[in-house]
Amino acid sequence: MTKEHVEGEFADYPYCNSCDPLAATFQRLVVNGLCREENNPYDFFHALALSVKEQMMHDWRRTRYQDRHAERKQVAYLSLEFLMGRALGNALLNLDLEEEAKQIISQYQVNLAQLEALEHDAGLGNGGLGRLAACFLDSCACMDLSVTGYGIRYEYGMFTQKIINGYQIEQADRWLKGGHPWDVIAPNHNVLVPFYGRTGSHVDHDGCLHHTWVDTQDVIAVAYDVPVPGYRNHRVNTLRLWKAQATEGFDLEEFNQGDYTEAVAHKNLAEQITMVLYPNDSSENGKELRLRQQYFLSSASLQDILNAWVRRKGADFSEFARLNVMQLNDTHPAIAVPELMRLLMDHYSLGWDEAWEITRHTMAYTNHTLLPEALECWPVRMFECILPRILDIVYEINARYLKLVAHHWPGETDKLTQMSIINNEGEPSIRMAYLAIVASFSVNGVAGLHTQLLTSGLFKNFYDLWPEKFNNKTNGVTPRRWLAYSNPRLSALLNQTLGGQWIEDLNQLEGLKAFLNDSEFLQEWRQIKRQNKVDLTQLIKKECGVEFAPDMLFDVQVKRIHEYKRQLLNILHVIHLYQEILKGNVDNMVPRCVLIAGKAAPGYAMAKLIIKLANNVAEMVNSEPLMKPYLRFAFLPNYNVSAMEKICPATDLSEQISTAGKEASGTGNMKFMMNGALTIGTLDGANIEILEAVGGDAFFLFGMNANEVLDLRNHYQPKQIIAQSPELSDVLSLLKSGHFNLLEPGIFEPIINAIVSGNDPWMTAADFESFRLAQQEVADTYLDQEQWTQLSIRNTASSGCFSSDATIAAYRDEIWQV
Ligand SMILES: *Cc1c(COP(=O)(O)O)cnc(C)c1O
Repeated sequence: MTKEHVEGEFADYPYCNSCDPLAATFQRLVVNGLCREENNPYDFFHALALSVKEQMMHDWRRTRYQDRHAERKQVAYLSLEFLMGRALGNALLNLDLEEEAKQIISQYQVNLAQLEALEHDAGLGNGGLGRLAACFLDSCACMDLSVTGYGIRYEYGMFTQKIINGYQIEQADRWLKGGHPWDVIAPNHNVLVPFYGRTGSHVDHDGCLHHTWVDTQDVIAVAYDVPVPGYRNHRVNTLRLWKAQATEGFDLEEFNQGDYTEAVAHKNLAEQITMVLYPNDSSENGKELRLRQQYFLSSASLQDILNAWVRRKGADFSEFARLNVMQLNDTHPAIAVPELMRLLMDHYSLGWDEAWEITRHTMAYTNHTLLPEALECWPVRMFECILPRILDIVYEINARYLKLVAHHWPGETDKLTQMSIINNEGEPSIRMAYLAIVASFSVNGVAGLHTQLLTSGLFKNFYDLWPEKFNNKTNGVTPRRWLAYSNPRLSALLNQTLGGQWIEDLNQLEGLKAFLNDSEFLQEWRQIKRQNKVDLTQLIKKECGVEFAPDMLFDVQVKRIHEYKRQLLNILHVIHLYQEILKGNVDNMVPRCVLIAGKAAPGYAMAKLIIKLANNVAEMVNSEPLMKPYLRFAFLPNYNVSAMEKICPATDLSEQISTAGKEASGTGNMKFMMNGALTIGTLDGANIEILEAVGGDAFFLFGMNANEVLDLRNHYQPKQIIAQSPELSDVLSLLKSGHFNLLEPGIFEPIINAIVSGNDPWMTAADFESFRLAQQEVADTYLDQEQWTQLSIRNTASSGCFSSDATIAAYRDEIWQV
């Protein structure tokens, strides 16, 4: 690669002439005054992160250059969320710089772990969906795939959760305030994204009709690139995050007319687009700003991709679909479908048919949920105002597609209404999932059961029409972050036992099964888990003031707080244990530490009340001396990626207890399994595949399956169920008595009412007895430490298929075909 090439392709990236060793760069930065005060640890972190970035710079440029010039298919992963967490530790691991970094900072009064802890989490996501995108980027880089992540550089990420008097309090997450050492601004890649205005048309010299979108208010999309290093393979992929900036002309005109304040307010309107991440997990609320975010991401990313294409190939798009694919992470970026049509037709003068052929061969859609409230629909009136040209295109796509539907089901006009992209019942709206399915060559669910439920339920009509589009890709998690990095003790044992290959080929963990009867190995395994529990105990003590004890069973449920995930079932079980202990029924009781953590969407009242209940029950449990030998209960505030890195290595029992048929896949379940936790769970999402992989004797299964949930729906009578269970009756009586809310009478009424209501969609009461008995089985199993350890090893050993490497291999071979 010559310097000229580099200048042309990467003028934005600072050129790295020297490839100084990490130590030299670090010294230079520290000496050159980056460290303002002597020995300020944050400055050391910053200097180290910048040095690590510089180490990647050469490979980063080369990767971009080679990908651009190879006739290889380019994948764009479009996602409104990337829940990256911290970057330093992961980069040091992937680049094999851990030892060097430790050496370098050993001369100062800090250690590497302390520096790593100073990095602010990049919380640009809500939960599983955003974290999946982050795991996928890691796997793609590790597997040498040319994949670019496209997202939004939110100024404020996922809120910080504080707990005050048991209630969730949200604080703005100003994650960029200390500076962000990882990104590189790439102003040469700026693009303009239009909003508002009106559509028109004109006929050119050759008599061709052209559509136009005029009088738009444009917003500049500025590219911020974050490096994504592969595992010791010299590939550095790119996560390109867009930030909104007002155009310069924007304010000047009005400024000259003396409307200074109006002008500044206008500027804010443009820059507002990328200000804040919407903190709703599994639900959408039709806010205009959210739609503007979605269009901003989709348009900027597609323009970027087309610009790169045109720079190299000119305006010949005949090969475009063969060399490009866009993976849509849920329907959030589904507006990319009409946007690609618009750009090809209005910017590059392609005809409809040509543009459509390209679009339908480049788009692939991943569905993430079966919850009806999470299926995005946008009011037509909103499109009319904000995106008029896009609305025209959606109408045209729909008209042409409905002809196909009419042809396929002659005379069945019902089908047209049911399957139309435009829903005309009530206020007309656009069904984004239908738009995505119609335009995609691939539609995938994220676990076996989920895909099956999609094709037999929600999307059945589409499956009948286009069975070949549908496929399953069970989620996975990256073993670099979730095992090698977060569990260094276990990682060292694995290296020592199996060699280091498991990090890139997780199926090698199967080799652990040869050691199931090696008592020395079992002993070591147990010791490692215990040490990890000691570490977590310190964190819980510091954050919650609750004393966990490492010899007790660590029973953990951490994930977004949502009724379908049934944290409530878990809390009811804690209350049951509390009552047993009060009654003195403690023979053979296994001492437990129960941990719950997770954020509730700020507008989700029931989820917030569940947090309050957890905290109030914890307060009663932990302050009752009788409980001390048997039960501890803590709610850890501000669950995020960094918290999970400490939690999953220390967990004995992983709670995956959603109402069957509601959890699309889950990925927390996989992180726990990899780290040797046993699962107590329902037949839901990827739990089913976990159970199959590890075997029924190593998984505590309980509750109704998805069919039984459906069957019970119409004749659910929780009051009868409660009457038949003395344990559940006692739990509810105590809850009703106000025992957990003496100072705030009545606050838990909505929870009690939900449990006893025949309309409870989550059917908490129905699964309580089965859950309680499964928990007894957990306790009985835990009493035999040898057996428990064997089951723990088997869980880790069987977790190979839940590496996101396996998931990405399937996307690569079956969807992207690169
Ligand atoms: C893995 C992960 C999730 C997803 O957890 P589920 O149990 O699958 O819902 C959510 N948030 C964070 C921070 C995670 O690391």
